[in-house]
Amino acid sequence: MKDLFDYVEFGDLKLNSRIVRTGLWESEREKSGNFTPEIYTRYENIAASGVGLIISEVFSLYPRDVFSKYTNTINYNRFVREAKDLTDMVHIYDVPIFAQLGFVQFHKKAEHNVQVDDVTIEDIRKIQTDIIIAAQKFDYAGFDGIQLGLGNYYFLARFINPNFNHRTDRYGGSTLNRLKIVLEIIKVIKQNTKLHINVRLNAFDGTNMGMSLDETIEICRILEKYGVDSLQITRPRSPQFFTQENKEKNPLIEATNEIIKHVDIPVILGGGSNSQNQINDILNTTDIDYISMQRPFVADPSFLVDWQVLGDGVSRCITCNNCYWKKTSTCFIKPCKVETPSLEDDVLDE
Ligand code: SF4
Repeated sequence: MKDLFDYVEFGDLKLNSRIVRTGLWESEREKSGNFTPEIYTRYENIAASGVGLIISEVFSLYPRDVFSKYTNTINYNRFVREAKDLTDMVHIYDVPIFAQLGFVQFHKKAEHNVQVDDVTIEDIRKIQTDIIIAAQKFDYAGFDGIQLGLGNYYFLARFINPNFNHRTDRYGGSTLNRLKIVLEIIKVIKQNTKLHINVRLNAFDGTNMGMSLDETIEICRILEKYGVDSLQITRPRSPQFFTQENKEKNPLIEATNEIIKHVDIPVILGGGSNSQNQINDILNTTDIDYISMQRPFVADPSFLVDWQVLGDGVSRCITCNNCYWKKTSTCFIKPCKVETPSLEDDVLDE
C-alpha cells in the first residue's frame, strides 16, 4: 500500500515523500532582483516540512516577459551566489531542488511577442543559447535539476503545439520537428551539466487542431529517448479540458496514468489535490507515484507537518487564486490554524 509519506526513489534522487512542491507565479524579490529574507524563510519551512522534492517558482528567462513584475529572473549579477545560499539551505534537509525555467513571450528589439511561426532560425538559436546559459547558472548554483516549461501557455508549449506551429522548416510539421528546438537544448544541457532534466507539459490541449493525448504520449516517449529524466503533467488552458463527458473523473489523473504506461521515467501528477485521503486514494488506485502541490504551500508552507501528525489532513487553500501575481507569496484567506494534538492530548486519549 502506497502512502504519500513513503521514502521513494525518483530517478537517481531519493525523496523523503511523494509530494513535490511546485512553484508557479509567486515571488517576493526586491526591485534589484535579489532574493529577500522571506524567500529563504519560506523555502526553509517547505524543505523542513517533509516534502519530497522542491521545484522553484518560475525563473523568467527574459526580464521583460509577461509574468508578474516581481517574478524572479536569473538576469542579475548575484543570482548564482544568492541561489547557491538557497540550495545549500534546502539540502540541509536532504531535499532536492529543481529550478523552474520558462517564458511566455519572445520579444525582439522592435517586435513585441513574436509568434511561433515568425521566429527566425537566428531567434531559435538565441532562445536555445539563453536557456543553456540559464541551465549552466542553475548548475553552478547547486540546483539538482532544471524544469523546462513546455506546459500551460508558455512559448515552448505553443512552439510544440500544431495549433500554433505552422512552420514549414525543420522546426515545424511532424511531432519530432516541432520538438527539435527542445531536443537540441536537452542534448547540450546533458553534455555540459549534471542537472536532472524535468519537463513540464500539458496532458493535451483539447482544441481541434491542438495536441491530443496520443501526441502527448508520443512527445513523452521522444523526450525520454533524448535524455529527459522525469516529467510533470499539467492542465492545459483549454476550457474543454474541464468539460469532459464524465465530470466525476479527473481527466488530468486519467491522462497522467495513461502516460505512465508508456514511459520508464518518473511522472509527476501536476496538482489538483488538497487532502491526505484524496492523495493516498490516487496513489493506490492508479500507477501515479508522485503528486505536486503549489497553492497549499502558499496557504501554509508547513502543512505537511500537521498532516503527518493528524493522518487525515486537508489543506486550507480554497483555490481562489488571489495569491497569484502579487508581490508576496501570501495567502489572502484568513488563517484558520488546524488544531494539532499536543503530546499531553495524546497521553490523555490513552
Ligand atoms: S486560498 Fe487562495 S490565496 Fe490562499 S493559497 Fe489558496 S489560492 Fe492562494
